[in-house]
Order: sequence, then structure tokens, then C-alpha cells
Amino acid sequence: MTKKLLFATSNRGKEKEIRRILSGLQGWELSFLDGFAGKIDPPEETGKDYEENAALKAIHYGTMAGGRFVAAEDSGLSVDALDGAPGVFSARYEGLSEDRDKAGALLEAMKGFPADKRKARFVAVVCLLSPDGKKRFFRGSVEGTIPGSARGEGGFGYDPVFIPEGFDRTFAEMSADEKDRLSHRRKALEKLKELLVEKA
Ligand code: IMP
Repeated sequence: MTKKLLFATSNRGKEKEIRRILSGLQGWELSFLDGFAGKIDPPEETGKDYEENAALKAIHYGTMAGGRFVAAEDSGLSVDALDGAPGVFSARYEGLSEDRDKAGALLEAMKGFPADKRKARFVAVVCLLSPDGKKRFFRGSVEGTIPGSARGEGGFGYDPVFIPEGFDRTFAEMSADEKDRLSHRRKALEKLKELLVEKA
């Protein structure tokens, strides 16, 4: 019998990527929040790390999952020279919410840092909440650097200000497929997929 999974995210950029990466998943009927627009507000992200925030989102949206499995994701960009900031506060860095403003604020904060002090990583943690209340976590990360200026039109969030290791283009200058091959989200979702395939 086909099992049901609600992937609860209110972030359109993430949703597009999750849909692409989980497409073709056998034995599972996957749904997103589209049917619930306006019916439930996103929770406040009060966790101290990605795991706590992913879990609190899964539990929050789980109230309307109606017996389905629920998955939720928390992610962010962590810059070494900024002691890991924006990190879990990536969605609201410096109190800003617009992607372009947040990326600009990050570039500003990195002004004057030499090339060898511009290391960063994207991290994504997915929490899978089973109907019996059991939580499982799946983590992915990708290393890279912060360039001196924003480049590219693709993706979302901090994509124009992140160059993955081994490349000279930002995520926003890559095709969707290319970003998916490298991304923190893909790596976390591949681990989730393995478990879902086992459970199907
Ligand atoms: P949250 O998981 O809802 O707390 O939001 C994470 C934030 O991190 C997003 O709003 C983006 O600003 C940023 N972020 C996470 N993953 C990515 C990515 O793949 N590209 C660009 N920005 C990202």
C-alpha cells in the first residue's frame, strides 16, 4: 500500500528543490503545504540548532498531517570568519527577510576578509516524524567560500554569495541540476530517501 508523506515547508525555493530531488520516489504519495495556504502560520524557530528547528517544524505541521508521516527541513549558511553566523538565523539575518538584502548584509559583514578567511558551509537537516511520534534526522552539508560580490540569478536565498568548493561559480550561476548534485539539501534528502525506500 502506498504510504503518505507531508513535506512541510513554507519556503518556495526549498520546495522546488525538494520536489525535484524526491521526484520518482516509489511507494510514497508526497504532498506539500499547497492545500493548507493561509490555514497554518509557520512556527517560530526558537531552536538552538538545525535539528531542534527541523523537529519543531515537523511537530507543528504534524498537527494537520492526519496520520501521515511528516518531514520538515531547517537549513542555513555558516561562515567561519563570523563565528558560524548567520547559521540557524539565516532566514532572518540582521532582522532582514528579503533574499537580496540578507545576501547584501552578509557581503558587507565579509568586507575586507582575505580569500583564505572566506570559508563557509551550507547545512540542511531534515526531520522525519512518524505517525507513532518517532523522530529521525538526516543531515547534509556542502563546503565553499563567500565571494566579494553577488553573482547569478538562479536559486534563492544566499545562492548568489556561495561558491561550492572546487568550482568558480556561485550556486546562483549554476543550473538547477548542477546545484542539486552538490547541495546540502540533496545530501540530506538522499539519506531520507534511503529510509523511505526501506519503509515503502
Ligand atoms: P529556515 O530553514 O526556514 O530557517 O531558512 C533557512 C534560510 O537559509 C533560508 O531562508 C535561506 O536564506 C538560507 N538557505 C538555506 N538553504 C539555502 C540554499 O540552498 N540556498 C540559499 N540559501 C539557503
